Amino acid sequence: RVVSAVPASPGEEVIERALRPKLLGEYVGQAKAREQLEIFIGAARKRGEALDHVLLFGPPGLGKTTLSHIIAAELGVNLRQTSGPVLEKPKDLAALLTNLERNDVLFIDEIHRLSPVVEEILYPALEDYQIDIMIGEGPAARSIKLDLQPFTLVGATTRAGMLTNPLRDRFGIVARLEFYTDEELARIVARSASLLGAPMDEEGGFEIARRSRGTPRIANRLLRRVRDYADVKADGRITRTIADLALAMLDVDPRGFDVMDRKLLEAVIHRFDGGPVGLDNVAAAIGEEAGTIEDVIEPYLIQQGYLQRTPRGRIATLAAFRHLGVAPPQSAGG
Ligand code: ADP
Repeated sequence: RVVSAVPASPGEEVIERALRPKLLGEYVGQAKAREQLEIFIGAARKRGEALDHVLLFGPPGLGKTTLSHIIAAELGVNLRQTSGPVLEKPKDLAALLTNLERNDVLFIDEIHRLSPVVEEILYPALEDYQIDIMIGEGPAARSIKLDLQPFTLVGATTRAGMLTNPLRDRFGIVARLEFYTDEELARIVARSASLLGAPMDEEGGFEIARRSRGTPRIANRLLRRVRDYADVKADGRITRTIADLALAMLDVDPRGFDVMDRKLLEAVIHRFDGGPVGLDNVAAAIGEEAGTIEDVIEPYLIQQGYLQRTPRGRIATLAAFRHLGVAPPQSAGG
C-alpha cells in the first residue's frame, strides 16, 4: 500500500511529529471536539484539577495522537504515551501510573487492545486514583493499595464499539473525530508546505487536499510525494498540474481512492454482484484483514456513499458502479 492511513516507518513518524500542531488554536477542523475541550481544559486549569478522562475515537490519521499532545500542552502538564498492545502485564501499567505527576496526561493508543488483566488495574486508577498491586508470590502473596496522583487518561481507539462497557463508562469526555472537509485539509496542506519550505500554489494544495480521503495523515504524506515529483520532474513548484500527475503516478484516482479502495469496490461489484456480501468474504477476496477493512478502508467509502454496511453485508452503491464504469444491475442499491 503506497499511501496508507497508518504510520509506515519510524522515519515517517519523525516528519509527522514535526508537522503536528502544538496548540488547540493550530488544530484545524473538528470544531465540536475542539470547542468542548477548550471549555473543559479551561475549567480544569482554573481549578488546578486534573481534566476528566477523555476518549477519542475515529479512523486512523484523523488527529487523535495530535490532540492528546495538545491536551497536555494546554493543561501545562507532562504527557506519557503508550498503547494497548504494549502494556502486556499489570505491572507495566502500574509502573507508568505510579510515575505520573499531579494532573499529568497518560495517553493510551489502541486502548481497545488492552488485556483484561491490565484493564482491571485501570478501573480503580481512573475512579479513585488508586491501584491494587500484588506483592510476592504463592501463599505469601498479598495485595497492597497505592495512592496515585490525580491524572487524566486520554484513550484513543478506531472504534468506540470495541471498548468494554465498564471502560467506556469511565470516560467523562468522549469525542468522535470526523473526516475533514476539503477546505480544512487544504489549510493543513498549506501549513505543512510552508513548514517544509515547499513552494505551492493554492490550486496545487487543493488538489492534494481533495484527494486525501478526508485524512490529515494522508494529506501530509501525499504532499511530500508530490513535492518529490515537483523537485525531480519540474522546477519544484507544486501546481495543480504537477499534483495531478504525481497523484496519478501514485495510483490515487480523481476521487482520492487508492489501490485498496478500488480493490475493495471491484471485489464487491465483480465477484459478489454488488453485494450484499459478508466482511469475511470480502477480506478473503482481496487478501486483507477484516479488521483493516473495517477500521481503515471502509469508513471513508461509506462516508462518501460508495459502500453501505447493512445487516446482510456490504453493498456497492450506484456511485461505486459509476465510478468503476460498470453498468449497475437493475436491483443495485443506493
Ligand atoms: P491518529 O492518532 O488519529 O492516527 P495523528 O494525531 O497521528 O492521527 O495525526 C496524523 C498526522 O496528521 C499528524 O502528523 C498531524 O500533523 C496531522 N494532523 C492530524 N490532525 C490535524 C489537525 N486537526 N490539524 C493539522 N494537522 C493535523
